[in-house]
Amino acid sequence: MNTQKVLLTPGPLTTSETVKQAMLEDMGTRDTEYQELVQDVRRILLTLADGDESIYTSILLQGSGTYGVESVLTSVVKQNEKVLILSNGAYGERMEQICRQAKVPYDIVKYSMIHQLPLNELEAQIAREDITHVAYIHSETTAGVLNDIQGIQKLIHRYHKISIVDAMSSFASLPMSLNKLDVDYLITSANKCLHGVPGLAIVYAKRTHLEQCEGICPSLSLDLYAQYKTMEQGNGSFRFTSPTHVLRALKQAIEELQQSGGINARHKRYVMIQKRIRESMLKQEFETLVPYSDQSPVITTYLCKEGFVFNDFYDYFKENGYLLYSGKLPQYDAFRIGNIGEISDEDVDRFIALLEAYFHEVR
Ligand SMILES: *Cc1c(COP(=O)(O)O)cnc(C)c1O
Repeated sequence: MNTQKVLLTPGPLTTSETVKQAMLEDMGTRDTEYQELVQDVRRILLTLADGDESIYTSILLQGSGTYGVESVLTSVVKQNEKVLILSNGAYGERMEQICRQAKVPYDIVKYSMIHQLPLNELEAQIAREDITHVAYIHSETTAGVLNDIQGIQKLIHRYHKISIVDAMSSFASLPMSLNKLDVDYLITSANKCLHGVPGLAIVYAKRTHLEQCEGICPSLSLDLYAQYKTMEQGNGSFRFTSPTHVLRALKQAIEELQQSGGINARHKRYVMIQKRIRESMLKQEFETLVPYSDQSPVITTYLCKEGFVFNDFYDYFKENGYLLYSGKLPQYDAFRIGNIGEISDEDVDRFIALLEAYFHEVR
């Protein structure tokens, strides 16, 4: 019985058959073949991010994306420093939660969740003398907002602060250059737009800064500096058991990304799928929550219209092989439809046909 569903969610995502098949081999973590695979993946990841190997490194960390964010925040901010969190959604608030719980010195400013971070209001905050680091989300998956990473980086550079960017749901959804953006720390994960399976966080770090971060992290397993050192000195060793199958799947997923035309092509594909779904939803008189100019290319929030019951809608699509996603904004009655992952044209055709059938029936 094929119970495989198309995931129209923000992650984990639908993966290809071949990515799943790549996991059918067991590997030993202390074996050179595996370590070479780790080093290979780290190198390719740097190329994908356009990061110069002498300036940047990519570090793999066991766990979901949050483990990567927590690792960075707890490993690079000293007790006599302070990170400013620019928040416009639940993932910014998660950064706050991490800092509060781990006692990382921080401050947070919260902005509207349905708009981009307002550049003109950020400068005065970033300029503050007590602030040493600035952390924000590139693609805020909460409502589906894309922040202006170039504009924010420019402000951060003007005041010589260290930048920490959660690019979890944006990395590989659009072209991005570490060299050009001059980001100090950027975090993503294997299971979003890279189309791998869950289990690995990816941290890009500027070597010169990370080299100064020895002994900061109060946690053993989340210590980014220690993970970096072991990976470098051990030529691809993890400190503790690594998810070997996840890494094999990631390697395969990246190869498929490159074969299908790279990140530019993936971006175009996402935009096309998102547009087709949006147009079919607008036809059913749904409204989007985020203004088009602030919308990210990965997920769209729709407001529930009168008489609409999301749970019924969800169940109907689930029965027909699609998983949708509820909203995450307490103040709005809304839900989300993602457009990332291995979604075929036929998957989109059938989604649209189901949508039309659903409202035909309901009416
Ligand atoms: C998915 C995501 C994360 C990571 O969440 P996990 O639950 O740890 O996978 C972090 N930030 C953003 C913006 C995300 O979309």
